[in-house]
Amino acid sequence: MSLPSMASVEPTRSKYVDDVELYRSDLRRYLAEATWVAEWRAATCSSAEQRLAYDASVLRRLYADGWNRYGWPEMVGGHGGDEIHRAAFYDELTAALLPVPNQQWTLETLGPALIAFAPQLAAERLGAYLRGEEWWGQGFSEPDAGSDLASLRTRALDDGHGGLVVSGQKIWTSQGGTAHRFVVLVRTGSTASRHRGLTMVLIDADAPGVTVRPIALASGRRELAEVFFDNVRVPAQRVIGDRDGGWEVAMYLMQYERGMYGYAVVTAALAQLSRLRATMVARSASAADKQRFARVYVATMVAAARGAATVRMLARGQTLGPASSIDKLLFTTVEKDIQDLIFDVRHDWMMNGADDADPADVDEVRADWWYARAATIMGGTAEVQKNIVADHVLGLPRGAQ
Ligand SMILES: Cc1cc2nc3c(=O)[nH]c(=O)nc-3n(C[C@H](O)[C@H](O)[C@H](O)COP(=O)(O)OP(=O)(O)OC[C@H]3O[C@@H](n4cnc5c(N)ncnc54)[C@H](O)[C@@H]3O)c2cc1C
Repeated sequence: MSLPSMASVEPTRSKYVDDVELYRSDLRRYLAEATWVAEWRAATCSSAEQRLAYDASVLRRLYADGWNRYGWPEMVGGHGGDEIHRAAFYDELTAALLPVPNQQWTLETLGPALIAFAPQLAAERLGAYLRGEEWWGQGFSEPDAGSDLASLRTRALDDGHGGLVVSGQKIWTSQGGTAHRFVVLVRTGSTASRHRGLTMVLIDADAPGVTVRPIALASGRRELAEVFFDNVRVPAQRVIGDRDGGWEVAMYLMQYERGMYGYAVVTAALAQLSRLRATMVARSASAADKQRFARVYVATMVAAARGAATVRMLARGQTLGPASSIDKLLFTTVEKDIQDLIFDVRHDWMMNGADDADPADVDEVRADWWYARAATIMGGTAEVQKNIVADHVLGLPRGAQ
C-alpha cells in the first residue's frame, strides 16, 4: 500500500475522520516510511529552548502532511475527528518510539477550553499552534496561590471600554520563557469572592507591561517562568468565557489536563519503557530490576487503560468530575516511577555518561529524571488529589486532622 496521493487527500481526509483505525494504520505507515522521521527520533537538544524550536519544526512538518490535524475541528485548522484521533496520534508516536512534541503538552491543556469558551479566538489563533508557529503558557499559579488557586490575587480592573487592565504575578508557567501568549486566570471580583470572582483571559507575551523571567530547574533547563503583568490592557475579545466565569473555564480545562494530557504522558511513558527494555535485554538485567520493571509496567498499563476510558468520555462530551483525580494520581506516579527505574538501571550512564554517548542525549535523559521530581506537584499535588478522591469520589467524612 502506498500513502494517499494529493488527488485523493480530500476523500481520504473524511475517511480518516469516520474511521479512526484507518487513520491509525496510515499514520503508522507514514511514521515508518517518511525519511525525516528517523532524524526526529534521534534528535537531541541541549536546552529547553532548543527542544521547543526543534519540536516546532516537527509540528510544521506533521501539519503540512496533515497528521496532527485530526482530532481538531476544521475551524481551527484541524481536519475534524475527536479526542480518540488525538489519542491514536499519541499511540502511534509511542509505537514508533518518537517523543511527543513539547508544544502538545500545553496545546492539549489549553486548546479545548479555548474552542469551547472562545470559539472566535480559537479560530483566529489555534491554527498557528497546530502549525508549530506559536505556543502558550498556562498562567494559573501564583507565589501564594497554588493548591488554593481560588485565593489568587492577579487583579483585573475594568478599563471602561469592555476590556480589562491586568496587574500581578504568575509563577511556574511551563514553557513560559518562550511562550508567545498566556492563558491567565485573573481576579475581577473581590478577594472574598474566591472562585466566583475570576476571569480567564488571553494575553500576548509581547504586550506592553508583560515581563517574563525564565526559571531554571535543577537540570539547568529553563522549563518554567515567572510572568509579571503591569497594567496590561486586555481587550474584551481576549476574555475566554464570561467575565467572572473563569472558574468554569479552569475546571473545563482541568479535565483535559487530567484526560488528554494524562493520556499523552502515559503513552510517552510506554515509549520510555520500550527503550529501557531494549537496554535491559542488551545488557541482561538483575532479577530485582526485572521484577521492578514488571511492576512499573503493570502500573503503566493500568494508567493507560484508565486514560483510554477517560479519553472516550471526553470524546462523548461527558464531564469527568472529581474522579479525574484518579487519572492524575495514576499517570503522575508512573511518570516518576519510570524515571526512577531508568535512573537505577542506567545509573553509571546517567551519572558519568559514556565515551560513545552523545552528551546532549545523556543531558536530556537526566533532565527528564529531574523533571519527573515535579510530576506529583504540578497541576495539583498528589496530596490534594487524594483529598479530592476521599471527599468527592468516596464521600468519606471530613474528620479531624
Ligand atoms: C514542573 C512544574 C510545572 C508547572 N507548570 C505550571 C503551569 O504551567 N501553570 C501553572 O499555573 N502552574 C504550574 N505549576 C505550578 C503547580 O500547579 C503548583 O506548584 C501546584 O499546584 C502546587 O502549588 P504550590 O507550589 O503553591 O504548593 P502549595 O499549594 O503551597 O503546597 C505545598 C505543600 O502543601 C500541600 N498541601 C497544600 N494544600 C493541601 C491540602 N489541602 N491538603 C493536604 N496537603 C496540602 C501540598 O500537597 C504540598 O505538598 C507547575 C509546577 C511545577 C513544579
